[in-house]
Amino acid sequence: MKAARFHRHGGPEVLQYEDAPDPVVPEGWALVRVRACALNHLDIWQRRGLDRVTIPLPHISGADVSGDVVSINGASTVALGTRVMLQPGLSCGVCDACRNGKENRCRQYDVLGYQSAGGYAELVTVPISSLIPIPDRIDYAMASAFPLTFVTAWHMLVTLAGVSSGDTVLVLAAGSGVGQAAIQIAKAKGARVVATAGGDQKLARARDIGADEVIDHYRQDITAETRRLTSNRGVDIVVEHVGVATFEKSVKSLAVGGRLVTCGATTGFDARLDLRLLFAKQLSVIGSYMGTPRELVAAAEGLFDGTFRPVVARTFPLADAADAHRALESSQHFGKIVLLP
Ligand code: ZN
Repeated sequence: MKAARFHRHGGPEVLQYEDAPDPVVPEGWALVRVRACALNHLDIWQRRGLDRVTIPLPHISGADVSGDVVSINGASTVALGTRVMLQPGLSCGVCDACRNGKENRCRQYDVLGYQSAGGYAELVTVPISSLIPIPDRIDYAMASAFPLTFVTAWHMLVTLAGVSSGDTVLVLAAGSGVGQAAIQIAKAKGARVVATAGGDQKLARARDIGADEVIDHYRQDITAETRRLTSNRGVDIVVEHVGVATFEKSVKSLAVGGRLVTCGATTGFDARLDLRLLFAKQLSVIGSYMGTPRELVAAAEGLFDGTFRPVVARTFPLADAADAHRALESSQHFGKIVLLP
């Protein structure tokens, strides 16, 4: 098969479009012909190399996949040829966390394409239980843009922060994958949504997908604007993933009893937290990583019934994976970047 792989860590140029061995399909796993694979920031960290995680080389990234089922090694209710998207988490299935439906806390938890081979290829293999059939009217690119960001945002907002109508939610970086998912989920749950983005074009897009209020994070002060928009009260929930560039302002934007949920630190991890604010305002700061298969299935109902529309910013042929990475790193786009084998 063809794949976009890297043999060493580095810049986008290390991604090579080349021949790679077809995956072997273990018992209980299925082989999927990849039709679309969406990019995530995780892909960039893998390519650059990480201090605490060893990425097997050569490596095929790609957590967010849609495609067609080619073969199945074991019993399954999913027929060959079925159009599917893939649940991106891989877990042991037998530990306490897995048996209690908290698979993303499994000590062996992995994300497809992180320490395993992912979807920057013509073929990928996944556990049979990761196959999620998709309706015909959902195209492959849109389906691939859904799983990781929506399960992440669902876990953050619905499970950890307990979003409900009456809440005001601040979503940072509306144009990011998690940002656009969080806006749509918060809106669907009846919350008032304040979103940040850089530039008029992205602010308009944030409104298009459900933001009630927008803040230009380059030209306006996030804390001052959230105060103004909430009559000085602050917001109930902040969806963070930007990190050091925004973290202090995010904490200061919270109302008494507010919850900050974070799933990333794109601009750096070494942020300050004023403990006086934490206890005096009775704040919660909650870390989040991915989500569970059950949460993805719950979120997918909203994809299938048209409530959620993952935003596909741009598609690239798989052969141009390096250019796709350059586009992701430039942060000029709104929504997901998708590779098409
Ligand atoms: Zn486990």
